[in-house]
Amino acid sequence: MANAPSRLKSRLFIVEKDNRPVFFFDFDGTLTRIEETPDKVRFRPVARFVVEELSGNYTVGVISGRALPEIKKLVGIRGIFYSGNHGVEIEGPGLRFVEPNSARSVKFIDSLVPRLRRKLKPYGTLIQHKKYSIAVHYRTVEARLVRRLLDDLEAITLAPVRAGKIRLQLGKKVVEIKAPVEWDKGRAVEKILQKAGKHGRVFFFGDDMTDEYGFRKVNELGGVSVFVGDLERETAAKYMIESPAALVGELAEFLFEDD
Ligand SMILES: [Mg+2]
Repeated sequence: MANAPSRLKSRLFIVEKDNRPVFFFDFDGTLTRIEETPDKVRFRPVARFVVEELSGNYTVGVISGRALPEIKKLVGIRGIFYSGNHGVEIEGPGLRFVEPNSARSVKFIDSLVPRLRRKLKPYGTLIQHKKYSIAVHYRTVEARLVRRLLDDLEAITLAPVRAGKIRLQLGKKVVEIKAPVEWDKGRAVEKILQKAGKHGRVFFFGDDMTDEYGFRKVNELGGVSVFVGDLERETAAKYMIESPAALVGELAEFLFEDD
């Protein structure tokens, strides 16, 4: 890899303490382990405690692919910024936002759900209707069936994709069907920073393809982009850390270590 990220050091945080840093986190695979299906994921109390402590002193945003009400409920910390659907919907102190094109696509996205369920459920997929998008999770599908599943998914979505009504997006064992918009986690970072006002260095922690937009945005801002987990692909992140648990450990050290 040409520009392999280097291991994140807590030193990097320490110099930031007095300088109003802003912390953005993806959720699944970043603050928590990936489970077989997303409904099995829990936010561990230690991780929640650390993020909550962090939010007591600094601006914190959780930017997830899950729907906004779901991510708010899972994280369960008050007074921080939340964004769902990979940046499309945002809520936080003094901020409520839905990307307008996504808002207009709700009905059409809706109309695809029954057919997707009928055709794709038998493979053992988990289909999540997230208002502004639909996620087809296939981690639980037998390997030999994945090709056929994806062919069926393509058959259902090809015409509306060509007509510019929807767009597909790939993640870890998931295909997402969303509005055809140029909007991503990087744009959500921008939006939240505008609201947050004067701030210091911006951190973004993530693990999946959609987090690359967040990494690129904070790189542009001279911030710190951190890939979490086993690095098996190219990334724009400048730093890496091996697991969600290790990240929580580094954050705890930043918060509670006297220096
Ligand atoms: Mg993730």
